[in-house]
Amino acid sequence: MVTYKEAPELKERAIVIARKLNLNHIDFDRIHFYRYTCNTKTVAKISGFFKTLQLPYPHINPFYVITFNDHNFERESEREQNQTILHELLHIPKTFSGEFSRRAHKDIYKMAKKLL
Ligand SMILES: [Zn+2]
Repeated sequence: MVTYKEAPELKERAIVIARKLNLNHIDFDRIHFYRYTCNTKTVAKISGFFKTLQLPYPHINPFYVITFNDHNFERESEREQNQTILHELLHIPKTFSGEFSRRAHKDIYKMAKKLL
């Protein structure tokens, strides 16, 4: 069973990155950051509380959870880590709807490398 730990220090880093790049649509009160350790290839992943999940919970606003797998994330350089954080933030659409940006995954990957 994987255990998750809140990661306020990663949230702080994400806030700095978002400010620097003017990603003003991101509401950091509604993004939650967690770390876990697992022997898989995943470095980070974003999940969203999107439309169909909201159907039974219409009183809950959209939100996102980003999880970082320390098994891989902690092997990255500081710059790569920042790019990983940005990559996940770039999945969030301007509408902050709980859905995901329609940008292709490979384009997000390129953008994150270019911007940081
Ligand atoms: Zn991605």
